Amino acid sequence: MTQPTDPTIDSFRVGRARVTRIEEWRGTFLTPELLFAGFDPQAYERTRGEIGFQYLDPATHAIEARLQSWVIELDGVRVLIDTGAGNDKDRPGLPVFGALKTPFLERLATAGFGPSDIDIVICTHLHVDHVGWNTRLVDGEWVPTFPRAQYVFTAADAEYWDPRNAGNYPPHVGAAVNAGFFDDSVRPILDRGLARLVSGSALVGPGLRLEPAPGHTPGSQTITLESDAERAIFCGDIVHHPLQILNPDWNSIFCEDASRARTSRRAVLENAARLEARLIPAHFAGEHSVRVVRDGQGFRPRWDHA
Ligand SMILES: [Zn+2]
Repeated sequence: MTQPTDPTIDSFRVGRARVTRIEEWRGTFLTPELLFAGFDPQAYERTRGEIGFQYLDPATHAIEARLQSWVIELDGVRVLIDTGAGNDKDRPGLPVFGALKTPFLERLATAGFGPSDIDIVICTHLHVDHVGWNTRLVDGEWVPTFPRAQYVFTAADAEYWDPRNAGNYPPHVGAAVNAGFFDDSVRPILDRGLARLVSGSALVGPGLRLEPAPGHTPGSQTITLESDAERAIFCGDIVHHPLQILNPDWNSIFCEDASRARTSRRAVLENAARLEARLIPAHFAGEHSVRVVRDGQGFRPRWDHA
């Protein structure tokens, strides 16, 4: 079902599950040359023709990006995947996502979901653009946006990104752009006892399995939804842009561990191809999801799922 009057909301089915996409923000980001570590101009020239210009600005080649969340409804349970940048946050290291005033909660309501309707919130990983709506500002205090929900984070990311643990690690690759998010969007959830911290593979809801996919962050995970033999894989930022399906060794410059990120990306693409799953990365513009097919030792996107 699509609601053509509102391009920020659309939905599709995965077996018996209904999945509704809610868009928070849209815009252009860095060019591929600047976003991808390992960028190869010749490979870019060879592969960009397979990527529609709904994914690359035709004038500047800047990446078209979205911040978006998904609500999964299955067996009476409502699960929200990723929570964007949020409103009113102080983001000195990433001003584009600071002090936002988006109508995200209004869009969620238009799609049929009030904050108290959400049973489970899952963050694919803890980064500034995936945790924002975990909380909202009420009378000067960051309070959980979804008061009834259990919030599912990985233990690895909750440990790694807590500024109180900074002395245990070398400087984080994403330290500057991610400054502030833990204290305003994660700690308030932990302090109220609303978080479930997972390690390894875990079942977290009807038809929903988490699997570790470390590298982009130490606790990055995929969320596989399965219903009636249909599957979707929410993969966060393991794949940022369709170019990485054709060039799976290209990391984002924000990947914390380059080697593990490449290994996890290939594993996720392999799984998506083998399971014939709909792959749902966090930031795709265009159709917002893709099928993946094997192509020799590599992969190709297939766009005909709609
Ligand atoms: Zn992201």
